[in-house]
Amino acid sequence: MATAIEPCPFCRSHHLHLTHSGLTYCVVCEHCKSMGPHWESLEEAIERWNQTSRAQSRSGGVPSERSPQPAQRIQHFAG
Ligand SMILES: [Zn+2]
Repeated sequence: MATAIEPCPFCRSHHLHLTHSGLTYCVVCEHCKSMGPHWESLEEAIERWNQTSRAQSRSGGVPSERSPQPAQRIQHFAG
């Protein structure tokens, strides 16, 4: 069973690299050098990376009709 890795959430590159430091694994993008979260399990590290990728592709495209962003507008009143 192979866990497919989603493309980089930041530059959409498929040049991804799995690295481990000590006891943890993480996914690194070869193109923009962004790193995924470190996890003790290789599959978990990939899974978290994929979640970030999906979330980015969802929010990075067309703004949805129900944007979760709180529209904060500071109004300045003259006088
Ligand atoms: Zn990248």
